[in-house]
Amino acid sequence: MKLSLIFYLFVLSQAFPLAQEDTISLYNNDLRIIKTSPNEFKIVSEDEKLKLKQEGVNFIDVTNYYPIDAVVGQEVLASPRTRLKNLKDWFKRPKQVDDEPEAPIYNYPIKANYEKEVHFLFEGINKTRIEEKLTKFSSFWTRYYKSKSGFDSSNWLYKQLISISIHSDLIQIEKFHHKEWDQFSIIARFKGEIDDIVVVGAHQDSINLKDPLHGRSPGADDDGSGSMTILEAFQLLAEDKDFKPYNTLEFQWYSAEEVGLLGSQDIFNTYKSKDKKVVAMLQQDMTGYTKDTIEAGIEVHIALIQDFVSQPLNSFLKMLFDTYSDIPYHLMSCGYACSDHASARRNGYPSSFMMEAVPNSNAKADWGHSENDVIDQLDFNHMKDHAKLTIAYAYELSLARDLY
Ligand SMILES: [Zn+2]
Repeated sequence: MKLSLIFYLFVLSQAFPLAQEDTISLYNNDLRIIKTSPNEFKIVSEDEKLKLKQEGVNFIDVTNYYPIDAVVGQEVLASPRTRLKNLKDWFKRPKQVDDEPEAPIYNYPIKANYEKEVHFLFEGINKTRIEEKLTKFSSFWTRYYKSKSGFDSSNWLYKQLISISIHSDLIQIEKFHHKEWDQFSIIARFKGEIDDIVVVGAHQDSINLKDPLHGRSPGADDDGSGSMTILEAFQLLAEDKDFKPYNTLEFQWYSAEEVGLLGSQDIFNTYKSKDKKVVAMLQQDMTGYTKDTIEAGIEVHIALIQDFVSQPLNSFLKMLFDTYSDIPYHLMSCGYACSDHASARRNGYPSSFMMEAVPNSNAKADWGHSENDVIDQLDFNHMKDHAKLTIAYAYELSLARDLY
C-alpha cells in the first residue's frame, strides 16, 4: 500500500503521542531533518548540515514541516544516541515518498504582448543605483539569518521598499516573520485584479561557511546581486503609474536560504496551507559574476536552469529571451534544491531559476560563501541584463489572462 509520508507521519503522531521530555532532548541535540533529493531524507545535526554545505551538497531543511517529535514513539529508548539511530532507521523505511506534488500546467503566453511598455521601462534601469544599493547591502558585516547585522540588513531593505512605494495605493510591503530567528523575509505586493500570484524571488541572507555567526560575509554576488536586481525591477514598476497588474505580483526577498531554504519554505508552505494559487515563481540567485565565463572564452549568457524546474515556465522564459534579451541563455543543471525555487516546487507551484553566466554546470567559485564574495568582482551590465528579464517576466505574466 502506498502512503504519502505526511499521512504516514500523521498516523504515527496519533499512535505514539510524545512525552514532553523527549521533545526537549531532541531540540537540545539540534537535530534537523533534511531532504537531499525528492525522496531522500537524512537526520543531521546543525554541524553536519554545515559540513554538507561546505561539501557543496544542496538540501532543503524540512524540520519545521515534519513532526519529528511524532516519530519518536514509545518504543524509542531513552538515550539520545539510541534515539538518533532509531530516527535514522525510521527515515530509511519509506523508500518511495511522494510529498512533491506535480505543478498544474498553465497556458503561459507564447508571444510578448507588451513590448512597447516593457522596452520603455528598460530605459529607466539605473546601473549606478544598483551599484550604490549593493554597496550598502554588502557592507553589513554578514547577512547570516541569525545575526544582528542580518536583522539590520532586512530592516534596511524593508525601508528601501517603503520609501519607493510610499505614494502607491496598489502596493503593500509585508514583513514575513519566522518563528526561530529574527531576520524576516519581505514581500512587496502589487495587488492585482485577481488573487492568483506571480512571484519574483531572491534571497537576502548570506553566509560565511567557516564561521557563520561571526565571519565576514558580504554576499555581494550571493545573493546581494539578485536581491538588488529585483529591487531595481520593483522600483521601475512601482514608479510606472500606468502599470496595474491583472494577476497579483509579488517580489519576495527570502531569509535563511543558505541553511536549507528555511525562509522560502515558510512562505510557500503557508501559501499552500491557505490555498493560495501561485501561477509562476522565478528565482534569481547570483546575477553579477561573469569573469570565469569570459576567461574561459565563452559568450556572456544567462544560465537557465533545466533540472527540477517547470518546463512550461522555462518555455515562456525562452520566449522572453528571444524577445527582450541582448544576451542568450545557456541551459544548465544545478541539482536538487539549489535555491529557493525548490520551496515553491515542493508545494506544487511551477518555478524556474536563472542565474549569471557560468562556464559549465560543474563550475564552483572558490570565493563563494566567504569573505571574498565582494562587489569589486561584479559586472553591473550583467545585472542590467537580469533586470531586463525580470521586468519582462513581471510585466508580461502579471498581465496575462486565461492562464487556465
Ligand atoms: Zn545563493
